[in-house]
Amino acid sequence: ASFGFKTVPEESKESLVKDVFDSVASKYDLMNDASSLGVHRLWKDSFVSTLRPGCKGPMRCIDVAGGTGDIALRILDHAREQYADRETSVEIVDINAQMLSEGFKRFKKTMYHNTPQVSFHEANAQELPPSQFKDDTYDLYTIAFGIRNCTSIPAVLKEAHRVLKPGATFACLEFSKVGNPLLSALYDQYSFSVIPLMGTILAGDSASYQYLVESIRKFPSQPDFAQMIRDAGFATGGDRDGGAWTDLWGGIASIHTGVKV
Ligand code: SAM
Repeated sequence: ASFGFKTVPEESKESLVKDVFDSVASKYDLMNDASSLGVHRLWKDSFVSTLRPGCKGPMRCIDVAGGTGDIALRILDHAREQYADRETSVEIVDINAQMLSEGFKRFKKTMYHNTPQVSFHEANAQELPPSQFKDDTYDLYTIAFGIRNCTSIPAVLKEAHRVLKPGATFACLEFSKVGNPLLSALYDQYSFSVIPLMGTILAGDSASYQYLVESIRKFPSQPDFAQMIRDAGFATGGDRDGGAWTDLWGGIASIHTGVKV
């Protein structure tokens, strides 16, 4: 780890995931743009604008599986641009030091560098060290395109619940299940052929991208994931699109939110 952060004990899936992101870290942003044709930017914009960070005053946020900092940067920009808020802060947490290192380089070029508004932490979402990430601390927990890579979704949710203040928000942006059969067939075709091919061309690595596509397949449906969020102790809206979750592009991705009870 380039920052001297605590190294994380690795289980098998964790080390696999780590290898995947090690091999793609430097090309990650480019690959995201190429494989989603830039759409991930729009989804991330919607995700952050629906959360309205800063609208009720400065917030202490934690962005888990934060990678190169896409969500953190949007949170800070939103708070500053919409509410002139320069006190909202984001702690970016990721299991992979190389992803964090790319994020650190990127933030160096921003006004947030060397301010208390942003910090980088190497840790496992499933077991955030309690000495560093204390109970009832954060106003907002975000996790974007990260939870499906974790071995245990309930363990991640349990930790999210622990570190959030009562009444604070958990928000997850993740690939999800497409309802419409025609769109679903087109999307399968695209993800199983185009994405690994792009991985080969741009990053010289189709296996990592194949893994990413398969992990999307295995992720629970919107209502099943909403139930897991409730099981972890969060209150959600009703069990439908526009309630416990909001579908983006027919369910290719979705936003789930919950409030710590
Ligand atoms: N949130 C960023 C974004 O939206 O661009 C990064 C998403 S990237 C697809 C997934 C990230 O999850 C990677 O940076 C990976 O290292 C991280 N990750 C995977 N398993 C993790 C775990 N158990 N704990 C923390 N981070 C993890």
